[in-house]
Amino acid sequence: MTSDTSDCIFCKVVKKEIAAKIIYENDDFIAFDDIKPVSPFHALVIPKKHYKNLLEVDDVNLLGKLMTSVQEVAKKNNLSDGFRTAINTGDNGGQTVYHLHVHILGGRFHKWPPG
Ligand code: 5GP
Ligand code: ZN
Repeated sequence: MTSDTSDCIFCKVVKKEIAAKIIYENDDFIAFDDIKPVSPFHALVIPKKHYKNLLEVDDVNLLGKLMTSVQEVAKKNNLSDGFRTAINTGDNGGQTVYHLHVHILGGRFHKWPPG
């Protein structure tokens, strides 16, 4: 599904129908604070266009721009000490919101493997 879905909470964030602390925006992406942060810095970068998850993206340019947006959010938020990015995909990946998003976790040490 690559069109907006009316019951997708992140599409509602994009359309400003659900409040979120938006910390970054460009033509194709927004980033906002996670509602249940697990690190001192915990933001989600999402495409404005709805993709269910990473497996659904057929646009290589969008993937490149997504990573560039992640880079910009990290740079603007003083994460030069390091940060963790995560793209949870599908049930085994722990995905709970089915609109592609990149977690950016910072402000503490993140152990590996995450469990
Ligand atoms: P997932 O488990 O799918 O990788 O991550 C979904 C993330 O979205 C979770 O970390 C969860 O806390 C966050 N989340 C779920 N609903 C909302 C919401 O309505 N607003 C915001 N800002 N974050 C949300
Ligand atoms: Zn969506």
